[in-house]
Amino acid sequence: MSEEKKIPYKIYLDENEMPKQWYNVRADMKNKPAPLLNPGTHQPMTAEELGGVFCEELVAQELDNEHAYIDIPEEIRNFYKMYRPSPLVRAYCLEEKLGTPAKIYYKFEGNNTSGSHKLNSAIAQAYYAKKQGLKGVTTETGAGQWGTALSMACSYFDLDCKVFMVKVSYEQKPFRREVMRTYGASVTPSPSVTTDVGKKILEAHPNTTGSLGCAISEAVEVAVKNPGYRYVLGSVLNQVLLHQSVIGLETKTALDKYGIKPDIVIGCAGGGSNLGGLIAPFMGEKLRGEADYRIIAVEPASCPSFTRGVYAYDFADTGMVCPLAKMYTLGSDFIPSANHAGGLRYHGMSPVLSQLYDDGLMEATTVTQTEVFEAAEQFARVEGILPAPESSHAIRVAIDEALKCKETGEEKTIVFGLTGTGYFDMVAYEKFHDGEMTDYIPTDDELEAFRKNLPQV
Ligand SMILES: *Cc1c(COP(=O)(O)O)cnc(C)c1O
Repeated sequence: MSEEKKIPYKIYLDENEMPKQWYNVRADMKNKPAPLLNPGTHQPMTAEELGGVFCEELVAQELDNEHAYIDIPEEIRNFYKMYRPSPLVRAYCLEEKLGTPAKIYYKFEGNNTSGSHKLNSAIAQAYYAKKQGLKGVTTETGAGQWGTALSMACSYFDLDCKVFMVKVSYEQKPFRREVMRTYGASVTPSPSVTTDVGKKILEAHPNTTGSLGCAISEAVEVAVKNPGYRYVLGSVLNQVLLHQSVIGLETKTALDKYGIKPDIVIGCAGGGSNLGGLIAPFMGEKLRGEADYRIIAVEPASCPSFTRGVYAYDFADTGMVCPLAKMYTLGSDFIPSANHAGGLRYHGMSPVLSQLYDDGLMEATTVTQTEVFEAAEQFARVEGILPAPESSHAIRVAIDEALKCKETGEEKTIVFGLTGTGYFDMVAYEKFHDGEMTDYIPTDDELEAFRKNLPQV
């Protein structure tokens, strides 16, 4: 024990050990992720076309498959210093409770007001919008984490922030909405009558409670129609994974300080940004043949993009205004069962991770909601942190891998991403405690039906 605890409970880095550059894993990929396509012509999107929707420098990052390292501007590094470096925690208490010889570490990204890793990319996107002299940005938010992070980032740079929030969340999560308004964002329930696409959707489905795909379409429309505005997105895109590499780079530096080499790296996967960021430097070593790691994506059984989706070009949004992305997808009309972790409900997956998964460089697995909340509660009770339901998908699989080690006696080192806190998810916790948590797992026939609507590319 005393020998063991030479590794502290929390491995902190100094400010000067924080990364000064993001790492772009695409530079080391033999098979690059497929390009975004124009939804009309099915030709690769040019920088000029993308520039109508996204900020210039972010477009450059989106298209950059060459440069392995991209400087983090000083203004962004200064903002990072307000809440980073984030701690890498050795889960001694959890290990003891499980009675496992495995060594478990987690990188905790919930230590900021927005409560998740999303701020890492929000601040970068706001910075480039400001630098371009824009008035503001538009976006969508589902469960609310991304909208919260972006509103914080925009207020820091004095930018206007227009958030379209999926109507059901707008009504069910009034506190998230108020946090966004506190940071000066305007929040509109989607679908709304403020956009053409919103009106169209409302005419066709007057009682709809909204979806991410629909909110994206509205946010894009407002960005394109208002001079001085661009659209920003909190996951899926290459640029977002690039910004989130700060998570993995810090993790790697902290582990290297103590000569620790993980056997398994685990993260939850919604659009893939936290996982892509966490694994980036480890995947880089793997791609360059310098080291090997097991890398596991964890997704909900009710929204299984990797494990039961198809690798194909698909629409990113319901209104079909966004570029087509080649990704593991369930189809853009797919709506997962209501009862689950908000931030993991997207129908598609990051094109970078999709390519890595297709090349057999990472694994994916699914877990059910009840299993997830059992793990969340067990974790909260021994490690103290109240985890977000999304993050708890990774906790579940980390615990399962640690229990396997207990059986085999292997002392594996497991690292997982703890992406955020769950204070705004207490309705889900309540359902779990009251025994009312259900987890609808779609049938093969149901998934097949959504696949029929994939665009023919
Ligand atoms: C949004 C979110 C996720 C999932 O998004 P990714 O882009 O897949 O990382 C996971 N955890 C938390 C806490 C989130 O807010």
